[in-house]
Amino acid sequence: MELTQTLTRILVVEDEIVVSEDLQQRLRALGFAIAGAADTAAEAIALATTERPDLALMDVMLHGRPEGIEAAEYLRSQLNIPVIYLTAHSDRATLQKARLTDPSGYIVKPFDDAQLMIAIELAPRRHELDLKTRREAPSPMAERLLPYAFARSKQILIAHQREGVNEVWVCASTPEGALSEVSRNFGTLQVVSLPEEALRQWINTTYSRQSGSAAQVVGEVEGEVDLSRLMQEIPEVEDLLESEDDAPIIRMINALLTQAAREGASDIHIESFEHESVVRIRVDGVLRDVVRPKKALHAALISRIKIMAQLDIAEKRLPQDGRITLRVGGRPVDVRVSIIPAGHGERAVLRLLEKDAQWLNLETLGMAQDTLVSFDRLIKRPHGIVLVTGPTGSGKTTTLYAALSRLEVGQANVMTVEDPIEYDLVGISQIQVNERIGMSFARALRSLLRQDPDIIMIGEIRDLETATIAVQASLTGHLVLATLHTNDAALAITRLEDMGVEPYLLSTSLLGVLAQRLVRQLCPVCKESWTEPDGRTGCSPVGCSECGQSGYSGRLGIYELLVVDDAMRALIRDRASDTEVLRQARANGLRTLREDAGRWLEAGFTSLEEVVRATGSD
Ligand SMILES: [Zn+2]
Repeated sequence: MELTQTLTRILVVEDEIVVSEDLQQRLRALGFAIAGAADTAAEAIALATTERPDLALMDVMLHGRPEGIEAAEYLRSQLNIPVIYLTAHSDRATLQKARLTDPSGYIVKPFDDAQLMIAIELAPRRHELDLKTRREAPSPMAERLLPYAFARSKQILIAHQREGVNEVWVCASTPEGALSEVSRNFGTLQVVSLPEEALRQWINTTYSRQSGSAAQVVGEVEGEVDLSRLMQEIPEVEDLLESEDDAPIIRMINALLTQAAREGASDIHIESFEHESVVRIRVDGVLRDVVRPKKALHAALISRIKIMAQLDIAEKRLPQDGRITLRVGGRPVDVRVSIIPAGHGERAVLRLLEKDAQWLNLETLGMAQDTLVSFDRLIKRPHGIVLVTGPTGSGKTTTLYAALSRLEVGQANVMTVEDPIEYDLVGISQIQVNERIGMSFARALRSLLRQDPDIIMIGEIRDLETATIAVQASLTGHLVLATLHTNDAALAITRLEDMGVEPYLLSTSLLGVLAQRLVRQLCPVCKESWTEPDGRTGCSPVGCSECGQSGYSGRLGIYELLVVDDAMRALIRDRASDTEVLRQARANGLRTLREDAGRWLEAGFTSLEEVVRATGSD
């Protein structure tokens, strides 16, 4: 990445004069330049327009109103200026609104110089968002002037219309004919030539803003939407993006997102096979087919998703990741988009992230009382490592968040390193891992440790470097909560040793491991109870209109908690096998996942086949 040698120029937007002055002084001392200081949204916009700072530090609430958010929205979307929010005790609604403006970071007051420095270091600079052109971003009108298909195929964009003159952006590959066609329709042109890549990015960005109006379409199609019917309405064309009207595709994607959000789906998968494309959604951990569009539509669907997520639609050979933020039924939904090349066309996975973390609590997830008491004891220790393990989709992160919410975070400095940040936690500093700018788990952790947090949550330990830092942190007086991808609790220990963590360090730092799974809960309306001739009883799924014929509705947690005591420490130090570790753990009273599921089976809350599915066939 290109780095500027000049000082980073920062715009400070803060309504409390004492705070503002203190902040400016600290920024100068840290080696930054002040591009200006404003105390209202209007002033911030005016200063940003004339001064073009590299970055803005902005108070969310200005004079008691969330005006900072409006100014930030303008700076971010119109001027390409990254914004870091300063927040104090903002309410959840305000923070959610702030989140929608795509900020480059948050700093929670009061903060020290290290926090300030890290937040600024992590944020991009304006020139990085500017795509190396110093041009003003295309006006909000731009997307309505030329049809997207035309702009894309001819590589041309009307960026601004000023006093009867159209500022047209082109690149070396724009055909002559396109210019004369635009001129015939729009009149006087002022032609600006851009590097090809920059123009392509601008076209993507400009037309992706239609996803803003996509949110309105979602509102319109809310209620009952028949996806299959919608699919048939889509006209027969080779490539819908080539047609002037891609509204049917937009409608379809919106209907899909709406349906997914309404059913509480966690993700949407769009895959292409030899003869058809398949769209599936995952509800309560299980994937199911929603619609099978014609193969011809696949490319158009993927392209539209790329545009909404601000990805490069021309890139089809490399994986890409992006994000769509939209509102469904008035609630903000964050969608993480991952596109990967596959045999019969690209494959898209859209993860829907629920932003309201209020339901996070271990009792609702159904942890047994004795497990909860032991787990609580672990997470309230002043230092050491507590691991939560399980495969993807087993609710590990939710448990960690729930654990954090049980702690008296008001009195402790809690920081997290995550990829992605799945919930906004008020009062907790969350750092997003970003490999693209070199912000790996390990690097983020190292910078975070400089701020001496009391409690650290690590999204996932994936490598030795992260594991080592976690161990060191726990040995130097921090409580570390982390997830690890293993099937059971005992395997977590051998997994870390296999990564290269020294057994004696692990034995002194590890407090406990919680393995978990989520099992689907039987639909209470239609479940059927049975009694075997030998007297065993249980319940099985049937399916009704209440549960979408699946026989299940909602999920329950099953847990296996391994607590490290002196005997276990000795075993870890001596590199005991996972069988020996498990034997010792069971002697200490550990219940395996299957055994813990027994309480749900006895109560008729889940079925035997569901427990087998969730825990594997061992
Ligand atoms: Zn049912």
